[in-house]
Amino acid sequence: MKQLILKPGREKSLLRRHPWIFSGAVARVQGDPGVGDTVAVRAAGGEFLAWAAYSPASQIRARVWSWSEPERIDGNLLRAHLRRAAATRERLLRAQDSDAMRLAHGESDGLPGVIVDRYGDVVVLQLLSAGAERWRDELAEALRDLTGCACVYERSDADVRALEGLPARSGVLLGALPGAGVQMREHGLSYGVDVAVGHKTGFYLDQRDNRKCVGELSRGRDVLNCFCYSGGFSLNALAGGAQSVLSVDSSADALAQAQDNLRRNDLDAARAEWQEADVFKYLRLLRDQGRSFDMIVLDPPKFAPTAAFAEKAARGYKDINLLALKLLRAGGLLASFSCSGGVSAELFQKILAGAALDAGVEASIVGRFAAAADHPVLLSFPEGDYLKGLLLARA
Ligand code: SAH
Repeated sequence: MKQLILKPGREKSLLRRHPWIFSGAVARVQGDPGVGDTVAVRAAGGEFLAWAAYSPASQIRARVWSWSEPERIDGNLLRAHLRRAAATRERLLRAQDSDAMRLAHGESDGLPGVIVDRYGDVVVLQLLSAGAERWRDELAEALRDLTGCACVYERSDADVRALEGLPARSGVLLGALPGAGVQMREHGLSYGVDVAVGHKTGFYLDQRDNRKCVGELSRGRDVLNCFCYSGGFSLNALAGGAQSVLSVDSSADALAQAQDNLRRNDLDAARAEWQEADVFKYLRLLRDQGRSFDMIVLDPPKFAPTAAFAEKAARGYKDINLLALKLLRAGGLLASFSCSGGVSAELFQKILAGAALDAGVEASIVGRFAAAADHPVLLSFPEGDYLKGLLLARA
């Protein structure tokens, strides 16, 4: 039998239903499991704890598929977990005007390492762990059957795969991408999504509710959207009646997609300006030019994947937030985000407090942001809680 026997006392986190088994907790590996194989995880005394996927190259040596000994880990179990994830979203998101959603969010949906995003009629599958990789074909077929989408596309090219000893891999798994490109709707706006080379699986679905909130607060305001990617916050601000929207990103491809997205919608392009620049430098330029805004969005990429990078990340967050607060007019709003798992909500709030102090600006928290409901966070897996944001109002 393929199994991992833990060191004495190391079963505690599993008993609290945390789904990761770290290499340091493992006393013995028996039965010579291969990469991604299912192993029984047992306490030092032999008691069954979980079924998990074995990942010999990773510090996270195994990830739990099931806590129930009678359960069999096979395509049917994965189908059941996918069905449950889809049903939860159906109940939570039905009323929203969107045909795009995250159908599976890894560990928090009982599917470690499996990310599934749906954009219209295309499903994008991202496999981030050896266990997820082992079940690629079964997952792809299950997703086609569950969603009725003919095309399942793989985007398994995230950096974390290297930690699992897995090469980058992307391309069509089932069906074919639509000739006219992939499209989606959200809050009444249309977007093209580049599932082949766009960031993550093509779009930042986690910001759905936050884009809406920013849109609703934009009326009559001069808006600066930093790290705009394909223009989600910018389009919502324009649709919400912003007076002007200046959008900044360092990626020419992202800006081209954003401008294409603007053209797809019936919005006033004259109120939109696009700037290819490094935000860290560009905010200084805007300051030197004496520019000011009524609303600023800061949605930078992940500065700290883990807590080990928190200090460096904190400097980055403080820098851009300090500059942004200085560019805000009295009564202006700053929607500031961090998607760094290594920076807690508490630390992020402290960083913004430091930024305001050093900027000589008085500001208050008037709203808090998190990822949308299709990015659930299992209570026993706090690592899943990565996106946080604060809405600040300048006095
Ligand atoms: N707000 C976006 C998602 C932002 S993702 C949305 O709602 O869809 C982060 C973006 O920051 C990416 O588009 C990336 O190209 C850009 N980026 C990363 N580093 C940057 C930098 N130093 N200056 C400007 N843009 C940067």
